[in-house]
Amino acid sequence: MPNFIFGPVRSRRFGLSLGVDLSPDKKQCNFDCLYCELKGAKTTDNIQNPPAVYEIIDALKASLAKFPNIDVITITANGEPTLYPHLKELVYEINRLKNGKKLLILSNAACIYDKKVQNALLDIDIVKLSLDSVTPKIFKKLNRPHKSVYLEQIMEGLKEFAQIFKNELVFEILVVENFNDTRDEFIALNQIISEISPSRVDISTIDRPSAYRVNAVSFETLEILSREIRGVPVMIAKREEFARSVLSLSENEIIQLLKMRPQSEDDIKNMLDEKSKKLLQNLLKVGKIELINAAGINFYKLL
Ligand code: SF4
Repeated sequence: MPNFIFGPVRSRRFGLSLGVDLSPDKKQCNFDCLYCELKGAKTTDNIQNPPAVYEIIDALKASLAKFPNIDVITITANGEPTLYPHLKELVYEINRLKNGKKLLILSNAACIYDKKVQNALLDIDIVKLSLDSVTPKIFKKLNRPHKSVYLEQIMEGLKEFAQIFKNELVFEILVVENFNDTRDEFIALNQIISEISPSRVDISTIDRPSAYRVNAVSFETLEILSREIRGVPVMIAKREEFARSVLSLSENEIIQLLKMRPQSEDDIKNMLDEKSKKLLQNLLKVGKIELINAAGINFYKLL
């Protein structure tokens, strides 16, 4: 029997996660991203021999009995999970047995224009969608989409979906050297992000061996680029692993920093000196700022 369930694995952003793999035997994706952690493969616009919902649910029930203390059930695939034809039904069944846990899906957003896919995603607690570039040439070179995928359609679909989706929407940008690592790209990405207004934006770079020869960018580059994303909580992956300077900010400077965008607890922990942290706590106490939770991560936000 194929391995539909994997983990639990600990994710810093979402907690202890049990993964549901809708294509356990081989990669089936409508992208062939240069940075993919799976081997490069020919793109497809459908999942061949999709498993039955009951097979997945039986396997999930068994795993949940073994690991009752997980935080999140993550729908993913050796490829793109929204290609799975019974997604709506699967989401319904998982929601019936998740018992207080969150349901998360990781998608490349290529099918988000499709009303059937939008409808299937509506009952998921956290929908995480990737969009690395809004520049057609770069999108094509970096994500290498199937011929049925159009960037324009994705962007329209994202806007449409954001309007009807009531749960947490997380947006992910993976940055690759000499592809989408420019300020212009991030200014353009910010444009669509400000229209969508997701709960959070995650920015990362390559940190594992990739399908093709491409390079990561430095943490400093991620941080500089992230400054173009305004008004929404931004999480930069692996922040704590990078050495960085500690800032000493006045109360006013802290307010300016939060005006640009909310800062995560981790950002604050790593970025500010003890005196500035006390000032920030005071701002919280007097009600000038608040602590909000964005898809499992706490952020300080200006009131
Ligand atoms: S969308 Fe995900 S699974 Fe598909 S090729 Fe890109 S990184 Fe790999």
